[in-house]
Amino acid sequence: MPPDSSGPTHSASKSFGENEIDRLFTLQRHAFFANTPSDYRARIDNLNRIIRLIEVHEDRIINAVNADFGNRARIETAVSEILVTIAAAKHAKRHLKHWMHKRRVATPLYMKPAKCRLLPQPLGVVGIIAPWNYPVQLALSPAIAALAAGNRTMIKPSELTPRTGEILKEIIAEAFDESTLAVVTGGVETGQAFASTPFDHLLFTGSTAVGMRVAQAAAKNLTPVTLELGGKSPTIIDDSADIESAARSIAFGKLFNAGQTCVAPDYILAPHSKLDRVVDAIANAARKFYPEIDTTTDYSSIISDRHFARLKALVDEARDAGAKIVEAGSANALHPQRKMPLTMVIDPPTTLGIMSEEIFGPILPVIGYSSRQEAISYVNNHDRPLALYWFGEDKTARDQVLERTISGGVTVNDTMMHVAQENLPFGGVGKSGIGAYHGEAGFETFSHMKSVFYQSRFASTGALQPPYTSKTDKFLSFVKKII
Ligand code: NAD
Repeated sequence: MPPDSSGPTHSASKSFGENEIDRLFTLQRHAFFANTPSDYRARIDNLNRIIRLIEVHEDRIINAVNADFGNRARIETAVSEILVTIAAAKHAKRHLKHWMHKRRVATPLYMKPAKCRLLPQPLGVVGIIAPWNYPVQLALSPAIAALAAGNRTMIKPSELTPRTGEILKEIIAEAFDESTLAVVTGGVETGQAFASTPFDHLLFTGSTAVGMRVAQAAAKNLTPVTLELGGKSPTIIDDSADIESAARSIAFGKLFNAGQTCVAPDYILAPHSKLDRVVDAIANAARKFYPEIDTTTDYSSIISDRHFARLKALVDEARDAGAKIVEAGSANALHPQRKMPLTMVIDPPTTLGIMSEEIFGPILPVIGYSSRQEAISYVNNHDRPLALYWFGEDKTARDQVLERTISGGVTVNDTMMHVAQENLPFGGVGKSGIGAYHGEAGFETFSHMKSVFYQSRFASTGALQPPYTSKTDKFLSFVKKII
């Protein structure tokens, strides 16, 4: 009889989505307890299944993402959804044996010859809530980490990418028994029911505002959360930077997926004296990348009419406030595919929406600074960002920024690349998130690192047992000397 495998009972009146979530959760919990411990071969088999389902259905996945976006550059999907996800699964396969090993931990001299070890154990059933901007990668990469750690896993994709969500559901159901990996589709209500489920761990990727609600719902069950959130990621161009090279990296990072990337450069801080050169160089780089944004399929669309209207309103507000605006190319505003050119806003007033909310599109405020300290202070006066980018050659200036600012991660002299490193944990800090995953960090996030103390039959700690005598005092004095 599996112990406590049904989880807390829920109220009687439930929507279909809630019942489906409950059913799958109960099924997965039973399966987890019935098959504990989860062995290495079963985990490798799960990782192979993920790799195979992506490889076999690559074209369908690319077409579904494209249809959900209106237009999603094929290469962007091939890189960010297919390649990156397969790389995560292969990395996990390569290192899994090592990750699963008991870890040796030092034992104090007076406790020897006892041993301390850390025993990684799966947590049970993991829930994953995914956003729309990288709908495959951000659903499957956390699932890869959760399965590698030996858990059962449920995924809730975003309702803004319904075709991709349905394909994921179908191909995962083909490849996996639903007691191992399952997908639940639905809108915000499904998301709310999902976040209220007593998972053994919940990983949420999405906005900071929704992340707070998810954390509150999870707290009612004391479900631990990893929150992969967003925010405004600064890019500092140092006086010592090669402006042309920085501009190409910035245009690439800002316009990949039309700026709808959690780690896209949100705004630029550049020396006042170089502001015009920086703006020209970024505009030139953007025009070279995408000479015809209306007609090319290489430039992605804004995901929905609502987000397109939100971005247009941000630009209109800046224009109405008299801010200087530089557009790199133009696009038909009524274009059915919702294409928006790179739109730089130069030294905007701090009251504008682009200066306070995460932009999540191809609008780029370029802000002048007079001293390096001013740039650092600007970053530190705002919420802690998910990513920070620094461009320059002056290593002292670089190290000052690295040491004096706090962000989830940093790429020096490029944009976004730290996220693609499976050996670097990926996550935010402060308002940009809690916890991390990718590679070994993901394995540990979804594992309980159980502390185990193996006592020796030659233990000296018996000297601490009563009745207390002068020998106990002597033993204590000895320990005091060697600790
Ligand atoms: P969102 O917060 O609106 O939605 C994310 C997911 O949460 C969706 O599946 C949605 O259905 C669900 N949801 C909505 N309301 C919910 C609720 N009350 N309870 C539970 N679930 C709910 O985010 P989005 O618009 O899909 O994605 C964009 C945001 O995600 C941006 O802020 C971006 O920076 C962030 N993001 C972060 C990362 C990262 O790795 N840190 C990656 C991609 C996107």
